[in-house]
Amino acid sequence: MKQDFDVVIAGGGLNGPALGLALADAGMRVAVVDAAPARARASDNFDGRAYALALASVRLLKGIGLWDQLAPTAQPITRVVARQGRGKDISDLGLFFDANEIEEGVLGQMLEDRFLYRALIEAMPQRLTHIPKTQVIGQQADTGGIDVMLSDGRKLRARLLVGADGRRSGVAERAGISRTGWSYDQTALVAALSVEIPHHGTAHQVFLPTGPLAVLPLRDNRASIVWSMTNPQARTIADLPDEAFLEVLAPHIRDIAGEITLAGPRFSYPLGLTLANAYVDERVALIGDAAHGVHPIAGQGLNLGLRDVAALAECLVDAARNGEDIGFATVLDRYQGWRRFDSTSLALGMDSVNTLFSNDNPILRTARGLGMGAVNAVPALRRRFMRQAAGLSTRPMPRLLAGQPL
Ligand SMILES: Cc1cc2nc3c(=O)[nH]c(=O)nc-3n(C[C@H](O)[C@H](O)[C@H](O)COP(=O)(O)OP(=O)(O)OC[C@H]3O[C@@H](n4cnc5c(N)ncnc54)[C@H](O)[C@@H]3O)c2cc1C
Repeated sequence: MKQDFDVVIAGGGLNGPALGLALADAGMRVAVVDAAPARARASDNFDGRAYALALASVRLLKGIGLWDQLAPTAQPITRVVARQGRGKDISDLGLFFDANEIEEGVLGQMLEDRFLYRALIEAMPQRLTHIPKTQVIGQQADTGGIDVMLSDGRKLRARLLVGADGRRSGVAERAGISRTGWSYDQTALVAALSVEIPHHGTAHQVFLPTGPLAVLPLRDNRASIVWSMTNPQARTIADLPDEAFLEVLAPHIRDIAGEITLAGPRFSYPLGLTLANAYVDERVALIGDAAHGVHPIAGQGLNLGLRDVAALAECLVDAARNGEDIGFATVLDRYQGWRRFDSTSLALGMDSVNTLFSNDNPILRTARGLGMGAVNAVPALRRRFMRQAAGLSTRPMPRLLAGQPL
């Protein structure tokens, strides 16, 4: 049996469904195929994962009609504080961003994975063809379209196949797209905490000599931590029972959080950089982690993916309106030209920040302190950093990220 679509998306994580919904709303016939069972992550239990979403990403969620249901679950980020820490001491100097300094009045929103994923999963069946628990196992492009082979024996036909299938993208591999990357020899420990000191919407980044520790605000006086450290240290700490884990963590964030308890299970993520050397091939385009898997140091991974979603959706919809074949190289090259430089420079920028900060070299320590102090002292520079973090300085800005209809 063969089914016809404008776009088939391999991957139903976060970026795949977001693109699918945007394109379906614009009148395209879309299928999203995902290897995982649809309900595997959409449970009511908090699993500790949360995203710092830039304002531009929030606009995209509004644009695809999900924000009204997500807003009551989100925690606005009103302040960002980045400082150096050592043992239990956190420097008084650093970078201090306050949302009052930019006209939007908020820097971003913290969203828990369970709410975001569920909203995407629940919206799909009403607006597009969602095929869960099925893998894309093959693809064959020709002049008129692309055949997409599924693990259940079905074959789908589309004008374009989008790889939203994560860091080990099979779509990219089958298209012959090579990757550049390396392991950071670091692991991120992720957990949710109940905190004693109210966070008032402040997101903290503490640069410890072993790696960055992010303490991000969640609703109901909880915080999400992303604690990056070397692999051997992470193994030791991850293996500790909960009580002992909290005893190791607490001194680092006592001034920020006060007494802490766990508010969900703990997770470990090995950290590495992986960049696709091309974002497009014959009737193929890559988005999200399939195109660029980055260090979580600035919480930008999903934000970058949603920028791909907005840019690719705009290229495809504009091409369709102009009567162009959406799978043509000219259309796909427009998308690649728009996104590749931005993602690569941000990925390498985060890589450098991680290298610069994850050590205890006294000279670098002083230089880092001076550098942060210098940026903090100049309001115009501070505002520029804030607008960048909020995703408001992407040029040209895709319509969905500017809050306009597609
Ligand atoms: C510790 C940590 C903290 C983070 N914090 C933040 C943050 O604060 N803010 C932020 O913006 N980002 C953050 N990120 C990054 C963010 O989690 C990722 O960028 C994002 O989840 C990637 O989504 P995706 O949809 O591109 O890929 P994935 O979520 O990896 O989804 C890929 C999907 O493809 C499916 N798949 C794979 N192979 C196939 C196949 N053959 N056929 C069909 N389906 C297939 C999989 O089942 C999966 O559902 C963080 C990451 C880490 C590790």
